[in-house]
Amino acid sequence: MRLKGKTALVTGAASGIGRATARLFAENGAAVALADLNAEGGRETERMIASAGGAAHFIQADVTKVAEARRVVEAAVGKFGGLDILLNAAGVFLFKPIEDCTEEDWERVLGVDLKAVFFTSKFAIAAMEKRGGGAIVNISSGCGLIGVPLNTIYAAAKGGVIGMTRAFAVDCAAKKIRVNCICPGVIDTPMSRGAFKSLPDPEAGISANLARTPLGRFGQPEEMANTILFLASDESSYFTGAILAPDGGMTAS
Ligand code: NAP
Repeated sequence: MRLKGKTALVTGAASGIGRATARLFAENGAAVALADLNAEGGRETERMIASAGGAAHFIQADVTKVAEARRVVEAAVGKFGGLDILLNAAGVFLFKPIEDCTEEDWERVLGVDLKAVFFTSKFAIAAMEKRGGGAIVNISSGCGLIGVPLNTIYAAAKGGVIGMTRAFAVDCAAKKIRVNCICPGVIDTPMSRGAFKSLPDPEAGISANLARTPLGRFGQPEEMANTILFLASDESSYFTGAILAPDGGMTAS
């Protein structure tokens, strides 16, 4: 029960890493507000948590819209009386050659993967201040640390998340709000499965990524949830502005 008495907001909670972390937060005693575009998946996460005896509340929202990011934070505070933890897990991925990338691709990927992280955090910080502190965890990617083929727009967003994490950490330290970030390697979720399928040769893409992962396998969402729980809990009380890479050794090799 590492989060007993805490309230958390998880964006991207309908699927993958967001869902696994929302469930782990709830197992550890947090009341969890779940935000996602995907209403069916979000309600399913809500049911999973409730049927395990936890407290969850789903809010359908497009967090790329500033008013929606504000509404999500207000709904979490309204439902559970305050906010201690934010996980920014909503995300989209894009494999595309530079010459085919459009302005729409740029707006969509930067909108979810960077802009939404900024504005959801901005509103969450105001709520956390009222509790005397809090913890924000962002999800960048190995693609924010190393060059990966066909990945320029996603890399721009995820590199931005790393820089923004450090800048938020500095600005929020006096408010006792810690801001940290993880850079996962390839994690087995609907996002990575869809990304490989979008390649002309999916099997070659999977093999190339396994070959550059020293542990020789892709990660599981629950392994990311364990790292995020550490960063969200008081066990990481002296971490802020940290960039951790649970990536099977991908960026070490
Ligand atoms: P996922 O399974 O696709 O989950 C992402 C969730 O975010 C989906 O439910 C998606 O809804 C939702 N979402 C997308 N746009 C949204 C918006 N505008 N407003 C609200 N929700 C929105 O992906 P995941 O693999 O768990 O990824 C979680 C995070 O980890 C992302 O930031 C991703 O970039 C990062 N990451 C993932 C990997 C990996 O290998 N899986 C590696 C490194 C980093 P829809 O399904 O309706 O789009």
